[in-house]
Amino acid sequence: MTSPSLPAVDAAEPSLPASEAARAAAIAALRSLDGVIVAGDRGYDEARLAWNLAADQRPLAVAEPTTLAEIQRVVRAAVAAGIRVAPQSTGHNALPLVQAGLDDALLLRLHRLREVRIDADRPTALVSAGSLWRDAVEAAAPHGLTALHGSAGDVGAVGYTLGGGLSFYGRRYGLAAHHVRAFEVVTASGDVVRSTPFEHAGLFWALRGGGGGLGIVVSMEIELLPLSDVQAGFLLWDISAAPAVLPAWRAWTTGLDRAATTSLRMLRFPPLPELPPFLSGRSLIVVDGAVLADDERTAELLAPLRALRPEMDTFARIPASAVLDVHMDPPAPSAGVSEHGMMRALDDETVETLLAIAGPGAADAPSIVELRHLGGALSDPIDAALPRLDGEYALLALEMVPVPEVAEVASARVRATVDAVRDRLDGAPYLNFIEDEAELSAVLGREGTERLRRVRALYDPMHLWVAAHRMPESVVAAGLDGRP
Ligand SMILES: Cc1cc2nc3c(=O)[nH]c(=O)nc-3n(C[C@H](O)[C@H](O)[C@H](O)COP(=O)(O)OP(=O)(O)OC[C@H]3O[C@@H](n4cnc5c(N)ncnc54)[C@H](O)[C@@H]3O)c2cc1C
Repeated sequence: MTSPSLPAVDAAEPSLPASEAARAAAIAALRSLDGVIVAGDRGYDEARLAWNLAADQRPLAVAEPTTLAEIQRVVRAAVAAGIRVAPQSTGHNALPLVQAGLDDALLLRLHRLREVRIDADRPTALVSAGSLWRDAVEAAAPHGLTALHGSAGDVGAVGYTLGGGLSFYGRRYGLAAHHVRAFEVVTASGDVVRSTPFEHAGLFWALRGGGGGLGIVVSMEIELLPLSDVQAGFLLWDISAAPAVLPAWRAWTTGLDRAATTSLRMLRFPPLPELPPFLSGRSLIVVDGAVLADDERTAELLAPLRALRPEMDTFARIPASAVLDVHMDPPAPSAGVSEHGMMRALDDETVETLLAIAGPGAADAPSIVELRHLGGALSDPIDAALPRLDGEYALLALEMVPVPEVAEVASARVRATVDAVRDRLDGAPYLNFIEDEAELSAVLGREGTERLRRVRALYDPMHLWVAAHRMPESVVAAGLDGRP
Protein backbone atom coordinates (compact mmCIF):
# COMPACT_ATOMS: atom_id res chain seq x y z
CA MET A 1 0.00 0.00 0.00
CA THR A 2 2.92 2.36 0.51
CA SER A 3 5.05 3.81 -2.20
CA PRO A 4 8.37 5.52 -1.68
CA SER A 5 7.61 8.02 -4.42
CA LEU A 6 4.41 9.48 -2.96
CA PRO A 7 5.31 12.64 -1.10
CA ALA A 8 5.43 12.26 2.66
CA VAL A 9 2.14 13.24 4.20
CA ASP A 10 2.46 16.31 6.29
CA ALA A 11 0.18 18.95 7.73
CA ALA A 12 0.39 20.60 4.34
CA GLU A 13 -1.16 19.02 1.23
CA PRO A 14 1.09 16.47 -0.43
CA SER A 15 2.93 18.14 -3.29
CA LEU A 16 4.43 17.12 -6.56
CA PRO A 17 8.01 15.98 -6.71
CA ALA A 18 10.07 19.06 -6.02
CA SER A 19 12.18 19.45 -9.12
CA GLU A 20 10.90 20.55 -12.50
CA ALA A 21 12.54 17.50 -14.05
CA ALA A 22 10.67 15.15 -11.71
CA ARG A 23 7.42 16.95 -12.44
CA ALA A 24 7.98 16.71 -16.19
CA ALA A 25 8.75 13.00 -15.88
CA ALA A 26 5.60 12.45 -13.83
CA ILE A 27 3.47 14.22 -16.42
CA ALA A 28 5.08 12.29 -19.28
CA ALA A 29 4.36 9.03 -17.47
CA LEU A 30 0.71 9.95 -17.09
CA ARG A 31 0.39 11.15 -20.69
CA SER A 32 1.59 7.77 -21.95
CA LEU A 33 -1.44 6.04 -20.41
CA ASP A 34 -4.59 5.33 -22.41
CA GLY A 35 -7.39 7.78 -21.69
CA VAL A 36 -5.25 10.37 -19.88
CA ILE A 37 -5.29 13.99 -21.04
CA VAL A 38 -2.83 16.46 -19.56
CA ALA A 39 -3.52 20.19 -19.12
CA GLY A 40 -2.81 21.91 -22.41
CA ASP A 41 -3.50 18.80 -24.52
CA ARG A 42 -6.27 18.79 -27.11
CA GLY A 43 -9.55 17.74 -25.50
CA TYR A 44 -8.52 18.90 -22.02
CA ASP A 45 -11.15 21.65 -21.77
CA GLU A 46 -13.93 19.24 -22.63
CA ALA A 47 -12.62 16.48 -20.35
CA ARG A 48 -12.36 18.76 -17.29
CA LEU A 49 -16.00 19.90 -17.44
CA ALA A 50 -18.16 18.96 -14.46
CA TRP A 51 -21.96 18.66 -14.48
CA ASN A 52 -22.02 21.80 -12.35
CA LEU A 53 -20.61 24.23 -14.88
CA ALA A 54 -19.94 26.74 -12.10
CA ALA A 55 -17.07 24.48 -10.97
CA ASP A 56 -14.00 25.62 -12.91
CA GLN A 57 -11.90 22.50 -12.40
CA ARG A 58 -8.38 22.77 -13.78
CA PRO A 59 -6.59 19.59 -12.72
CA LEU A 60 -3.09 18.68 -13.79
CA ALA A 61 -4.55 15.85 -15.87
CA VAL A 62 -7.83 14.07 -16.52
CA ALA A 63 -8.22 10.31 -16.86
CA GLU A 64 -11.34 8.76 -18.37
CA PRO A 65 -10.86 5.02 -17.88
CA THR A 66 -13.22 2.52 -19.45
CA THR A 67 -12.19 -0.61 -17.54
CA LEU A 68 -11.17 -1.67 -14.05
CA ALA A 69 -7.66 -2.46 -15.34
CA GLU A 70 -7.34 1.09 -16.69
CA ILE A 71 -8.38 2.51 -13.32
CA GLN A 72 -5.73 0.41 -11.59
CA ARG A 73 -3.05 1.47 -14.09
CA VAL A 74 -3.89 5.15 -13.64
CA VAL A 75 -3.92 4.88 -9.84
CA ARG A 76 -0.55 3.11 -9.78
CA ALA A 77 0.95 5.62 -12.22
CA ALA A 78 -0.34 8.52 -10.11
CA VAL A 79 1.19 6.97 -6.98
CA ALA A 80 4.49 6.46 -8.77
CA ALA A 81 4.43 10.05 -10.00
CA GLY A 82 3.48 11.45 -6.59
CA ILE A 83 0.27 12.93 -7.88
CA ARG A 84 -2.97 12.95 -5.89
CA VAL A 85 -6.16 11.56 -7.40
CA ALA A 86 -9.69 13.00 -7.31
CA PRO A 87 -12.46 10.56 -8.30
CA GLN A 88 -15.51 12.02 -9.97
CA SER A 89 -18.43 10.48 -11.80
CA THR A 90 -20.71 13.32 -12.96
CA GLY A 91 -19.42 16.38 -11.13
CA HIS A 92 -22.79 17.27 -9.57
CA ASN A 93 -20.84 17.99 -6.39
CA ALA A 94 -17.68 19.34 -8.04
CA LEU A 95 -17.46 22.65 -6.17
CA PRO A 96 -16.02 21.18 -2.95
CA LEU A 97 -13.39 19.27 -4.95
CA VAL A 98 -12.30 22.52 -6.63
CA GLN A 99 -12.03 24.14 -3.22
CA ALA A 100 -10.10 21.16 -1.86
CA GLY A 101 -7.54 21.82 -4.64
CA LEU A 102 -7.27 20.06 -7.97
CA ASP A 103 -4.40 22.05 -9.49
CA ASP A 104 -1.78 19.41 -8.78
CA ALA A 105 -4.16 16.44 -8.94
CA LEU A 106 -5.34 13.95 -11.48
CA LEU A 107 -9.11 14.07 -11.99
CA LEU A 108 -10.27 10.48 -12.43
CA ARG A 109 -13.57 10.73 -14.28
CA LEU A 110 -15.63 7.55 -14.08
CA HIS A 111 -18.47 8.50 -16.39
CA ARG A 112 -17.55 5.91 -19.03
CA LEU A 113 -18.23 3.04 -16.59
CA ARG A 114 -22.00 2.80 -16.73
CA GLU A 115 -23.00 -0.84 -16.42
CA VAL A 116 -25.96 -2.03 -14.34
CA ARG A 117 -26.74 -5.72 -13.76
CA ILE A 118 -30.02 -6.72 -12.14
CA ASP A 119 -30.52 -9.84 -10.07
CA ALA A 120 -34.31 -9.91 -9.85
CA ASP A 121 -34.41 -12.89 -7.49
CA ARG A 122 -32.44 -11.35 -4.63
CA PRO A 123 -33.49 -8.48 -5.67
CA THR A 124 -30.33 -6.40 -6.13
CA ALA A 125 -28.45 -4.38 -8.72
CA LEU A 126 -24.72 -4.28 -9.38
CA VAL A 127 -24.06 -0.69 -10.30
CA SER A 128 -20.72 0.40 -11.76
CA ALA A 129 -18.66 3.45 -10.79
CA GLY A 130 -20.10 6.06 -13.15
CA SER A 131 -23.68 4.81 -13.56
CA LEU A 132 -26.41 7.40 -13.34
CA TRP A 133 -29.54 6.78 -11.33
CA ARG A 134 -31.49 6.74 -14.59
CA ASP A 135 -29.38 3.77 -15.77
CA ALA A 136 -30.19 1.74 -12.64
CA VAL A 137 -33.87 2.68 -12.50
CA GLU A 138 -34.44 1.87 -16.17
CA ALA A 139 -32.65 -1.47 -15.83
CA ALA A 140 -34.72 -2.39 -12.76
CA ALA A 141 -38.11 -1.30 -14.14
CA PRO A 142 -38.81 -4.30 -16.42
CA HIS A 143 -38.49 -6.52 -13.32
CA GLY A 144 -41.07 -4.50 -11.38
CA LEU A 145 -38.29 -3.09 -9.22
CA THR A 146 -36.80 0.31 -8.47
CA ALA A 147 -34.03 1.89 -6.41
CA LEU A 148 -33.62 4.48 -3.67
CA HIS A 149 -32.67 7.10 -6.25
CA GLY A 150 -32.74 10.85 -5.71
CA SER A 151 -34.73 13.51 -7.49
CA ALA A 152 -32.48 13.74 -10.58
CA GLY A 153 -31.87 10.89 -13.03
CA ASP A 154 -28.44 12.16 -14.05
CA VAL A 155 -26.90 12.17 -10.56
CA GLY A 156 -24.26 9.46 -10.13
CA ALA A 157 -25.58 6.50 -8.14
CA VAL A 158 -22.26 5.89 -6.35
CA GLY A 159 -21.45 9.53 -5.49
CA TYR A 160 -25.00 10.00 -4.14
CA THR A 161 -24.79 6.83 -2.05
CA LEU A 162 -21.36 7.70 -0.59
CA GLY A 163 -22.95 10.86 0.82
CA GLY A 164 -26.03 9.06 2.20
CA GLY A 165 -28.72 9.21 -0.49
CA LEU A 166 -32.03 10.95 0.14
CA SER A 167 -34.86 9.56 -1.95
CA PHE A 168 -38.58 10.23 -2.30
CA TYR A 169 -38.90 6.78 -0.71
CA GLY A 170 -36.66 7.82 2.19
CA ARG A 171 -39.18 8.21 5.01
CA ARG A 172 -40.29 4.62 4.45
CA TYR A 173 -36.94 2.97 3.64
CA GLY A 174 -34.20 5.27 5.00
CA LEU A 175 -30.98 6.30 3.29
CA ALA A 176 -29.72 4.63 0.11
CA ALA A 177 -26.34 4.04 1.79
CA HIS A 178 -28.07 1.78 4.31
CA HIS A 179 -29.26 -0.49 1.49
CA VAL A 180 -25.84 -1.32 0.05
CA ARG A 181 -24.77 -4.96 0.35
CA ALA A 182 -21.20 -4.62 -0.96
CA PHE A 183 -18.72 -2.19 -2.47
CA GLU A 184 -15.83 -3.11 -4.73
CA VAL A 185 -13.07 -0.59 -4.20
CA VAL A 186 -9.74 0.21 -5.83
CA THR A 187 -7.56 1.25 -2.91
CA ALA A 188 -4.56 3.54 -2.90
CA SER A 189 -2.33 0.52 -3.67
CA GLY A 190 -4.21 -0.06 -6.91
CA ASP A 191 -5.58 -3.35 -5.55
CA VAL A 192 -9.28 -4.21 -5.53
CA VAL A 193 -11.01 -5.10 -2.28
CA ARG A 194 -14.56 -6.26 -1.66
CA SER A 195 -16.11 -4.48 1.29
CA THR A 196 -19.16 -5.90 3.06
CA PRO A 197 -20.31 -6.16 6.69
CA PHE A 198 -17.98 -9.18 6.92
CA GLU A 199 -14.96 -8.28 4.75
CA HIS A 200 -13.16 -4.94 5.14
CA ALA A 201 -16.01 -4.11 7.50
CA GLY A 202 -14.49 -0.83 8.68
CA LEU A 203 -14.29 0.38 5.10
CA PHE A 204 -17.92 -0.70 4.58
CA TRP A 205 -18.94 1.35 7.61
CA ALA A 206 -17.04 4.39 6.30
CA LEU A 207 -18.32 4.22 2.72
CA ARG A 208 -21.92 4.35 3.90
CA GLY A 209 -22.31 8.08 4.16
CA GLY A 210 -18.74 9.12 4.95
CA GLY A 211 -18.21 10.81 1.58
CA GLY A 212 -15.11 10.18 -0.51
CA GLY A 213 -11.43 9.92 0.34
CA LEU A 214 -11.44 6.13 0.75
CA GLY A 215 -10.77 4.78 -2.73
CA ILE A 216 -12.50 4.38 -6.03
CA VAL A 217 -15.77 2.51 -5.78
CA VAL A 218 -15.79 0.54 -9.01
CA SER A 219 -19.13 -1.07 -8.26
CA MET A 220 -21.71 -1.37 -5.52
CA GLU A 221 -24.36 -3.97 -4.92
CA ILE A 222 -27.61 -2.35 -3.80
CA GLU A 223 -30.96 -3.66 -2.66
CA LEU A 224 -33.88 -2.88 -4.94
CA LEU A 225 -37.44 -2.06 -3.92
CA PRO A 226 -40.41 -4.13 -5.12
CA LEU A 227 -42.21 -1.17 -6.67
CA SER A 228 -43.37 -1.13 -10.28
CA ASP A 229 -45.66 1.86 -9.89
CA VAL A 230 -45.96 4.57 -7.31
CA GLN A 231 -48.32 7.38 -6.34
CA ALA A 232 -46.20 10.43 -7.12
CA GLY A 233 -46.44 13.89 -8.62
CA PHE A 234 -46.69 17.54 -7.70
CA LEU A 235 -49.20 20.10 -6.48
CA LEU A 236 -48.55 23.59 -7.85
CA TRP A 237 -49.83 27.02 -6.85
CA ASP A 238 -48.96 30.58 -7.79
CA ILE A 239 -46.55 32.09 -5.25
CA SER A 240 -49.43 34.26 -3.96
CA ALA A 241 -50.70 31.08 -2.23
CA ALA A 242 -47.43 30.60 -0.30
CA PRO A 243 -48.64 32.21 2.98
CA ALA A 244 -51.35 29.54 3.11
CA VAL A 245 -49.46 26.59 1.58
CA LEU A 246 -46.20 26.75 3.54
CA PRO A 247 -47.80 26.70 7.04
CA ALA A 248 -50.28 24.06 5.85
CA TRP A 249 -47.48 21.82 4.54
CA ARG A 250 -45.60 22.29 7.82
CA ALA A 251 -48.70 21.21 9.77
CA TRP A 252 -49.30 18.33 7.33
CA THR A 253 -45.75 17.00 7.67
CA THR A 254 -45.92 17.01 11.46
CA GLY A 255 -46.51 13.41 12.55
CA LEU A 256 -47.07 12.34 8.93
CA ASP A 257 -47.31 8.68 7.87
CA ARG A 258 -43.90 7.32 6.78
CA ALA A 259 -45.47 6.43 3.45
CA ALA A 260 -45.13 10.03 2.24
CA THR A 261 -41.86 11.77 1.41
CA THR A 262 -42.20 15.23 -0.09
CA SER A 263 -40.44 18.50 -0.69
CA LEU A 264 -41.77 22.04 -0.81
CA ARG A 265 -40.21 24.65 -3.07
CA MET A 266 -40.71 28.33 -3.71
CA LEU A 267 -39.51 28.77 -7.27
CA ARG A 268 -38.76 31.65 -9.63
CA PHE A 269 -38.47 30.90 -13.34
CA PRO A 270 -37.16 33.38 -15.92
CA PRO A 271 -39.26 33.78 -19.08
CA LEU A 272 -37.63 31.20 -21.37
CA PRO A 273 -39.10 29.68 -24.54
CA GLU A 274 -37.77 26.20 -23.63
CA LEU A 275 -39.84 26.15 -20.43
CA PRO A 276 -43.48 24.99 -20.45
CA PRO A 277 -45.94 27.91 -20.12
CA PHE A 278 -46.95 26.90 -16.58
CA LEU A 279 -43.34 27.56 -15.49
CA SER A 280 -41.96 30.22 -17.85
CA GLY A 281 -41.64 33.63 -16.19
CA ARG A 282 -43.59 32.50 -13.15
CA SER A 283 -43.13 32.42 -9.38
CA LEU A 284 -44.62 29.32 -7.81
CA ILE A 285 -44.92 27.19 -4.73
CA VAL A 286 -44.78 23.45 -5.39
CA VAL A 287 -45.12 20.38 -3.18
CA ASP A 288 -43.91 17.16 -4.78
CA GLY A 289 -42.85 13.65 -3.89
CA ALA A 290 -44.16 10.13 -3.54
CA VAL A 291 -46.65 8.28 -1.35
CA LEU A 292 -46.08 4.55 -0.86
CA ALA A 293 -49.69 3.61 -0.18
CA ASP A 294 -52.70 2.38 -2.10
CA ASP A 295 -54.75 4.93 -4.04
CA GLU A 296 -57.41 5.31 -1.37
CA ARG A 297 -54.92 5.91 1.45
CA THR A 298 -52.92 8.29 -0.78
CA ALA A 299 -56.06 10.34 -1.48
CA GLU A 300 -56.76 10.44 2.25
CA LEU A 301 -53.20 11.58 3.00
CA LEU A 302 -53.13 14.27 0.31
CA ALA A 303 -56.60 15.64 1.10
CA PRO A 304 -55.43 18.51 3.38
CA LEU A 305 -53.08 19.78 0.66
CA ARG A 306 -55.65 19.36 -2.10
CA ALA A 307 -58.09 21.39 0.00
CA LEU A 308 -55.82 24.36 -0.77
CA ARG A 309 -56.97 24.06 -4.41
CA PRO A 310 -53.70 23.74 -6.33
CA GLU A 311 -53.60 25.16 -9.84
CA MET A 312 -52.08 21.86 -11.02
CA ASP A 313 -52.25 18.45 -9.38
CA THR A 314 -50.30 15.68 -11.12
CA PHE A 315 -50.32 13.17 -8.23
CA ALA A 316 -51.33 9.81 -9.73
CA ARG A 317 -50.13 6.23 -9.91
CA ILE A 318 -47.21 6.34 -12.34
CA PRO A 319 -44.47 3.88 -13.38
CA ALA A 320 -41.72 3.91 -10.77
CA SER A 321 -39.20 4.97 -13.43
CA ALA A 322 -41.23 8.18 -14.00
CA VAL A 323 -40.59 9.29 -10.41
CA LEU A 324 -37.23 10.56 -11.72
CA ASP A 325 -39.10 13.31 -13.60
CA VAL A 326 -41.41 14.49 -10.81
CA HIS A 327 -39.02 17.06 -9.31
CA MET A 328 -38.17 18.61 -12.71
CA ASP A 329 -34.46 18.96 -11.98
CA PRO A 330 -32.36 20.54 -14.77
CA PRO A 331 -32.23 18.09 -17.69
CA ALA A 332 -28.63 18.94 -18.62
CA PRO A 333 -25.42 20.21 -17.01
CA SER A 334 -25.96 23.67 -15.59
CA ALA A 335 -24.17 26.22 -13.46
CA GLY A 336 -25.46 26.80 -9.97
CA VAL A 337 -24.60 27.43 -6.34
CA SER A 338 -26.46 26.42 -3.22
CA GLU A 339 -26.48 26.69 0.54
CA HIS A 340 -27.95 24.20 2.99
CA GLY A 341 -28.94 23.90 6.61
CA MET A 342 -30.68 21.27 8.74
CA MET A 343 -33.59 21.86 11.11
CA ARG A 344 -35.13 19.58 13.71
CA ALA A 345 -38.35 21.61 13.58
CA LEU A 346 -39.92 24.30 11.46
CA ASP A 347 -41.23 26.95 13.83
CA ASP A 348 -43.55 29.89 13.08
CA GLU A 349 -40.70 32.36 12.96
CA THR A 350 -38.79 30.29 10.39
CA VAL A 351 -41.90 29.95 8.25
CA GLU A 352 -42.39 33.75 8.39
CA THR A 353 -38.74 34.39 7.55
CA LEU A 354 -38.78 32.04 4.57
CA LEU A 355 -41.98 33.64 3.29
CA ALA A 356 -40.40 37.09 3.61
CA ILE A 357 -37.36 35.90 1.62
CA ALA A 358 -39.07 33.87 -1.09
CA GLY A 359 -42.83 34.38 -0.77
CA PRO A 360 -45.03 36.78 -2.72
CA GLY A 361 -43.44 40.18 -3.29
CA ALA A 362 -39.95 39.12 -2.17
CA ALA A 363 -37.51 41.38 -3.98
CA ASP A 364 -34.26 39.40 -3.97
CA ALA A 365 -35.37 35.77 -3.70
CA PRO A 366 -33.09 32.97 -4.91
CA SER A 367 -34.40 30.87 -7.83
CA ILE A 368 -35.24 28.04 -5.45
CA VAL A 369 -35.89 27.86 -1.72
CA GLU A 370 -36.57 24.23 -0.88
CA LEU A 371 -37.52 22.26 2.20
CA ARG A 372 -37.19 18.48 2.09
CA HIS A 373 -39.23 16.64 4.68
CA LEU A 374 -37.10 14.04 6.47
CA GLY A 375 -37.76 11.99 9.60
CA GLY A 376 -39.39 8.56 9.51
CA ALA A 377 -36.88 5.86 8.57
CA LEU A 378 -34.34 8.58 7.73
CA SER A 379 -34.10 9.15 11.50
CA ASP A 380 -33.71 5.48 12.46
CA PRO A 381 -30.02 4.99 13.37
CA ILE A 382 -27.88 2.38 11.60
CA ASP A 383 -24.24 1.53 12.27
CA ALA A 384 -22.75 3.51 9.37
CA ALA A 385 -20.61 6.65 9.01
CA LEU A 386 -23.85 8.51 8.44
CA PRO A 387 -26.16 6.74 10.90
CA ARG A 388 -29.24 8.87 10.13
CA LEU A 389 -30.24 12.34 8.99
CA ASP A 390 -30.15 14.68 11.96
CA GLY A 391 -33.26 16.72 11.33
CA GLU A 392 -36.86 16.85 10.15
CA TYR A 393 -36.34 19.41 7.39
CA ALA A 394 -33.40 20.02 5.07
CA LEU A 395 -33.32 23.59 3.81
CA LEU A 396 -31.73 24.40 0.47
CA ALA A 397 -31.36 27.72 -1.31
CA LEU A 398 -30.23 27.46 -4.93
CA GLU A 399 -29.32 30.03 -7.54
CA MET A 400 -28.39 29.68 -11.19
CA VAL A 401 -25.11 31.15 -12.41
CA PRO A 402 -25.75 31.79 -16.12
CA VAL A 403 -22.45 33.71 -16.49
CA PRO A 404 -19.43 33.57 -14.16
CA GLU A 405 -19.73 37.30 -13.42
CA VAL A 406 -22.86 36.70 -11.32
CA ALA A 407 -21.37 33.87 -9.26
CA GLU A 408 -20.51 36.10 -6.33
CA VAL A 409 -23.96 37.71 -6.17
CA ALA A 410 -25.62 34.30 -6.50
CA SER A 411 -23.50 32.85 -3.69
CA ALA A 412 -24.26 35.84 -1.47
CA ARG A 413 -27.99 35.45 -2.13
CA VAL A 414 -28.17 31.76 -1.19
CA ARG A 415 -25.96 32.34 1.84
CA ALA A 416 -28.14 35.25 3.01
CA THR A 417 -31.22 33.02 2.74
CA VAL A 418 -29.79 30.34 5.01
CA ASP A 419 -28.16 32.94 7.28
CA ALA A 420 -31.60 34.44 7.90
CA VAL A 421 -32.60 31.26 9.76
CA ARG A 422 -29.10 30.25 10.91
CA ASP A 423 -30.07 30.36 14.59
CA ARG A 424 -32.77 27.75 13.84
CA LEU A 425 -30.35 25.29 12.20
CA ASP A 426 -29.99 22.80 15.01
CA GLY A 427 -29.27 19.59 13.07
CA ALA A 428 -26.04 18.37 11.48
CA PRO A 429 -26.05 19.26 7.78
CA TYR A 430 -26.36 16.57 5.11
CA LEU A 431 -23.18 15.90 3.14
CA ASN A 432 -24.84 15.57 -0.28
CA PHE A 433 -26.36 19.02 0.04
CA ILE A 434 -23.12 20.74 1.02
CA GLU A 435 -21.50 22.45 -1.93
CA ASP A 436 -18.63 24.01 0.01
CA GLU A 437 -15.66 22.13 1.27
CA ALA A 438 -16.92 21.35 4.78
CA GLU A 439 -15.40 20.01 7.96
CA LEU A 440 -16.55 16.44 8.41
CA SER A 441 -16.98 16.77 12.16
CA ALA A 442 -19.88 19.18 11.57
CA VAL A 443 -21.59 16.47 9.52
CA LEU A 444 -20.62 13.21 11.18
CA GLY A 445 -19.93 14.33 14.74
CA ARG A 446 -16.65 14.07 16.62
CA GLU A 447 -16.86 10.32 17.24
CA GLY A 448 -17.88 9.45 13.67
CA THR A 449 -15.15 11.68 12.27
CA GLU A 450 -12.52 10.08 14.46
CA ARG A 451 -13.60 6.59 13.37
CA LEU A 452 -13.61 7.73 9.73
CA ARG A 453 -10.11 9.15 10.17
CA ARG A 454 -8.88 5.78 11.39
CA VAL A 455 -10.37 4.02 8.36
CA ARG A 456 -8.88 6.61 6.01
CA ALA A 457 -5.50 6.23 7.70
CA LEU A 458 -5.64 2.47 7.12
CA TYR A 459 -6.73 2.55 3.49
CA ASP A 460 -5.00 5.75 2.39
CA PRO A 461 -1.97 6.32 4.64
CA MET A 462 -0.30 8.53 2.04
CA HIS A 463 -3.31 10.76 1.34
CA LEU A 464 -3.57 9.79 -2.28
CA TRP A 465 -7.21 10.77 -2.64
CA VAL A 466 -8.45 14.32 -2.85
CA ALA A 467 -11.53 14.21 -0.63
CA ALA A 468 -14.27 16.75 -1.13
CA HIS A 469 -14.64 17.35 2.59
CA ARG A 470 -11.86 17.70 5.09
CA MET A 471 -10.98 16.42 8.54
CA PRO A 472 -11.32 19.16 11.17
CA GLU A 473 -8.24 21.23 11.96
CA SER A 474 -8.28 19.96 15.53
CA VAL A 475 -7.89 16.37 14.36
CA VAL A 476 -5.14 17.33 11.92
CA ALA A 477 -3.38 19.47 14.50
CA ALA A 478 -3.41 16.57 16.93
CA GLY A 479 -1.41 14.61 14.36
CA LEU A 480 -4.24 12.22 13.77
CA ASP A 481 -5.06 12.80 10.14
CA GLY A 482 -3.64 9.60 8.81
CA ARG A 483 -0.07 10.69 9.36
CA PRO A 484 2.46 8.29 10.70
C1 LIG B 1 -29.87 18.60 -9.56
C2 LIG B 1 -29.44 17.86 -8.32
C3 LIG B 1 -30.34 17.04 -7.65
C4 LIG B 1 -29.96 16.34 -6.50
N1 LIG B 1 -30.86 15.57 -5.85
C5 LIG B 1 -30.48 14.88 -4.74
C6 LIG B 1 -31.40 14.06 -4.03
O1 LIG B 1 -32.58 13.97 -4.38
N2 LIG B 1 -30.96 13.40 -2.93
C7 LIG B 1 -29.65 13.45 -2.53
O2 LIG B 1 -29.30 12.79 -1.56
N3 LIG B 1 -28.76 14.22 -3.18
C8 LIG B 1 -29.16 14.94 -4.26
N4 LIG B 1 -28.25 15.73 -4.91
C9 LIG B 1 -26.89 15.81 -4.40
C10 LIG B 1 -26.04 14.69 -4.99
O3 LIG B 1 -26.42 13.46 -4.42
C11 LIG B 1 -24.57 14.96 -4.69
O4 LIG B 1 -24.18 16.11 -5.39
C12 LIG B 1 -23.70 13.76 -5.03
O5 LIG B 1 -22.44 13.95 -4.44
C13 LIG B 1 -23.56 13.63 -6.52
O6 LIG B 1 -22.85 12.48 -6.86
P1 LIG B 1 -22.19 12.39 -8.31
O7 LIG B 1 -21.42 11.15 -8.37
O8 LIG B 1 -23.25 12.65 -9.33
O9 LIG B 1 -21.26 13.68 -8.30
P2 LIG B 1 -19.67 13.80 -8.28
O10 LIG B 1 -19.44 15.27 -8.10
O11 LIG B 1 -19.07 13.15 -9.46
O12 LIG B 1 -19.22 13.01 -7.00
C14 LIG B 1 -19.58 13.43 -5.71
C15 LIG B 1 -18.53 12.94 -4.72
O13 LIG B 1 -18.47 11.53 -4.72
C16 LIG B 1 -17.18 11.05 -5.08
N5 LIG B 1 -17.36 9.95 -6.03
C17 LIG B 1 -18.23 9.90 -7.07
N6 LIG B 1 -18.17 8.70 -7.66
C18 LIG B 1 -17.23 7.99 -6.98
C19 LIG B 1 -16.72 6.67 -7.11
N7 LIG B 1 -17.17 5.82 -8.05
N8 LIG B 1 -15.76 6.27 -6.24
C20 LIG B 1 -15.30 7.10 -5.27
N9 LIG B 1 -15.75 8.36 -5.10
C21 LIG B 1 -16.71 8.79 -5.95
C22 LIG B 1 -16.45 12.23 -5.69
O14 LIG B 1 -15.06 12.21 -5.39
C23 LIG B 1 -17.13 13.43 -5.06
O15 LIG B 1 -16.50 13.81 -3.89
C24 LIG B 1 -28.63 16.46 -6.03
C25 LIG B 1 -27.73 17.30 -6.70
C26 LIG B 1 -28.11 18.00 -7.82
C27 LIG B 1 -27.13 18.91 -8.49
